[in-house]
Amino acid sequence: MQHLLAGGWSSADWFEKHGYPSYRNQQLASWIFQKRATDFTQMSDLPGALRQELARDFRLWTSDVVSAQRSDDGTEKLLLQWPDGGRIECVLLRDGTRRSICVSTQVGCAMGCVFCASGLDGVDRNLSTGEIVEQMLRLQQKLPASERLSHLVVMGMGEPLANLDNLLPALELANQESGLGISSRRITISTVGIPQAIRRLADRHAHFHLAVSLHAPDDELRNRLVPVNRNIGLDDLLSASDYYFEVSGRRLTFEYVLLAGVNDKETHAHGLVRLLQRRSALLNVIPYNPVAGLPFQTPDRRAIQQFRVILENGGLNVRFRRRKGDRINAACGQLRRSRAVDTGER
Ligand code: SAH
Repeated sequence: MQHLLAGGWSSADWFEKHGYPSYRNQQLASWIFQKRATDFTQMSDLPGALRQELARDFRLWTSDVVSAQRSDDGTEKLLLQWPDGGRIECVLLRDGTRRSICVSTQVGCAMGCVFCASGLDGVDRNLSTGEIVEQMLRLQQKLPASERLSHLVVMGMGEPLANLDNLLPALELANQESGLGISSRRITISTVGIPQAIRRLADRHAHFHLAVSLHAPDDELRNRLVPVNRNIGLDDLLSASDYYFEVSGRRLTFEYVLLAGVNDKETHAHGLVRLLQRRSALLNVIPYNPVAGLPFQTPDRRAIQQFRVILENGGLNVRFRRRKGDRINAACGQLRRSRAVDTGER
């Protein structure tokens, strides 16, 4: 039996081989992406025999929902397990009229950022296109029929630019009208910053929004917080980011997780001003979401405020993000980790 979402959307050949007109494939897609069907039996305008054949040849879902949590602010988080035992997380966030989803691209992560829960055990494997799309659909099913997904962020577990070949077809489906219909301006890829892959993305798919996880204003500190930086360096990262901006014409976002006493001092804020003031970019400052067992803390309000004033006086475009869903471990990798600690597995 084949996964219907394998490779993104794989049923066109099947319809042809079984002698069905191609509009049947479009009907099927509309049931899954727009009408949010969870089962072939619900697809009432497909002939009964076709529904049975589809159920015989295709699996719609390949993951098990190990855990589903909802917090008071409407954030919902799923922990999914694939048949090989690999587990990942994905999240639905509600904010005013926004309905955003956050998806994972790898089981684990190889980047090793020292404050992040996802990479503590390294990476197991890339997710397939179908596994990425399955997360989107499972989250969309949490919405009432009257609501639509408006935003997609690729900020879950894993490094998206290390799995671009599987990710891009999934994002195209998210973007297409016949898919989830999310505008490409509202699709954000968050990356630790792999210059080669940023350039490749710029040359092929510059219509998505790019967010670069910066976390430090200089190489010395970034090497410590984001160990892959030792092979990259800020110069190359920023020149690749500038190239993405030139090609796409879209303002980039830089992300900065604020860690008390580590990267939240005045000198760091001034360093950021020097680095970013001539760039057309948004600096998104995120208070650290504590991870059990890691030695980092969220700065207090005063420290955050001081940091903010320097950035604003330096003319940077800044946004200080509220923490959403922190009570359900919505920072990447945390739910999987807490479950693993509970049960003694990874
Ligand atoms: N690998 C990609 C995408 C996944 S992480 C990247 O590095 O961008 C998404 C964002 O969450 C990154 O900016 C990451 O640094 C940040 N992050 C990781 N752990 C966090 C934590 N405990 N609290 C706050 N942000 C965190």
